[in-house]
Amino acid sequence: MAEQAQLEQENLWLKQRLATLIEAARDNERKLDRMTDLEMRLLAADGLVGILALLLEEFPRDYDLDHVGLVLHDPDGVIGGILATDPCPSEQWSLRLLSSVDDLQSLTGLYLGDYAACPEALRFAGRVELCSVALVPLERAGRCLGALSLGSRCDGRYGEGMDTYLLRRLAAVVAICIENALAAWRLRELGVTDALTGVRNRRFFDLRLQEEMIRVVRERQSLACLFVDIDHFKVINDCHGHAVGDQVISAVAQRLGRHLRGSDLLARYGGEEFVMLLPGLDRQEVRAVAERVRQVVCDVAVAADDHNVPVTVSIGVAHWAAQRLASQDPSISAQVLLREADEALLRAKSDGRNRVVMAGMPPADTVSLELLPLGL
Ligand code: GH3
Ligand code: MG
Ligand code: MG
Repeated sequence: MAEQAQLEQENLWLKQRLATLIEAARDNERKLDRMTDLEMRLLAADGLVGILALLLEEFPRDYDLDHVGLVLHDPDGVIGGILATDPCPSEQWSLRLLSSVDDLQSLTGLYLGDYAACPEALRFAGRVELCSVALVPLERAGRCLGALSLGSRCDGRYGEGMDTYLLRRLAAVVAICIENALAAWRLRELGVTDALTGVRNRRFFDLRLQEEMIRVVRERQSLACLFVDIDHFKVINDCHGHAVGDQVISAVAQRLGRHLRGSDLLARYGGEEFVMLLPGLDRQEVRAVAERVRQVVCDVAVAADDHNVPVTVSIGVAHWAAQRLASQDPSISAQVLLREADEALLRAKSDGRNRVVMAGMPPADTVSLELLPLGL
C-alpha cells in the first residue's frame, strides 16, 4: 500500500517536472523565434545606420530592456564619418567609438551580472539605475570589433549560470552585419571616389547633378555649376614630369575643396578638369565664390618634388536661377547647365586664361562697349 502511494507520489512529481520542462522548452522556443526575427531584421537593415537604429532604438523597446549600448572600434574614423553625414539621431544612442586598439582590451570577455560589480571600463555613461547587465564582445574572425551591452533595472535578469547561447548568437550576427555594412560602404565609396585626389569622380557627379536638378526645380532654388580647368597643364607635365603633374592636380583639388559648404559638391571631371555644384546662391554670390576659388588656386605655387610650380585655373560658370523654366526632363536641364558652364570655360580660355567667365555674359571684347554719349 505504502509502495503504491510512493509510486503515485513519484508519478505526480515526474508529471510536474515534465510540465515545467515543457514550459521551459516552450519559453526557450519563443525566445529563439523572437531572436531569429530580430536577426532577420538586422540582416535586412539598411546599411550601418539601419543596423544601429534597430539595435539601439527598437531592440530595447521590443525586449523591455532599460539599456542597449554599443562600443565599436573605429580606427580610421569611417563609422564616425558615416554618422556625421547621416541625419540619424546618433547623439541619442548609447554608442561609443574607440579609435585605439588598446581601449578594446577591456571588452574581450563576456560579463553577466550586477552592474555595480562590473569592471569600470564597462560602465556605460554612469547608468547607476541599472541592476543587472550583460556585456558581449563582438568578434569576427578572431578580431574584436567592439562590444554589445544590455542592461536592466530588474535584479538578476543577467547573472552567472545563465545560458549565454542567444546572447553569443546575437553578438555574432551583429558583428557580421556591421562588418558587411562597412565593407559595402567602402566598396560604394571606391566606386564614386577619384583615386588620385580623393574627391568625387565623374560618375558620382553625373548622378548628383540630375538629383540636384530635380530638387532645385521642385523647390524653386538656384544652382550653379563651375567648370574648373588647370591652365597650360600639359606644359607642367612636359617640364616637370607626370609625377609632379599628379601632385599639382591633387593640390588643386585640395584648394578647391576649401571653399565647399556641406551642400556643395566638388568632383574631378577628368584629367585636369574639375566641376563644382553650388546650390542656393544668386548670380553675384556665385561670381564672388568663383573668383575666390580662382584666387586660392593661384595664390601660392604648388610645392611638388623640390619644384615650386605656379598654377592658375580658368573657370566657366553657369547659373540656374530659381525662376528659370525647366525642361520636363530634368536630365535635359542638367545637360543645358553643364554645356553652358563648358562654353563659358572655353571663353575663359580664349579670353586669356586665369579668369572667371559667367555664361550669359557678352564676350570680353564687347563688355566694355557702352552707349556713347550723343553729341549735340
Ligand atoms: P589649357 O590651358 O588649354 O587647358 O591647356 P592644357 O595644357 O591644360 O590642356 P590640354 O588638354 O592640352 O592638356 C591636358 C593634359 O593633362 C594632357 C594630359 O596628358 C594631362 N593629364 C590628364 N590626366 C592626367 C593625370 O591624371 N595626371 C597627369 N600628370 N596628367 C594628366
Ligand atoms: Mg587645362
Ligand atoms: Mg582640359
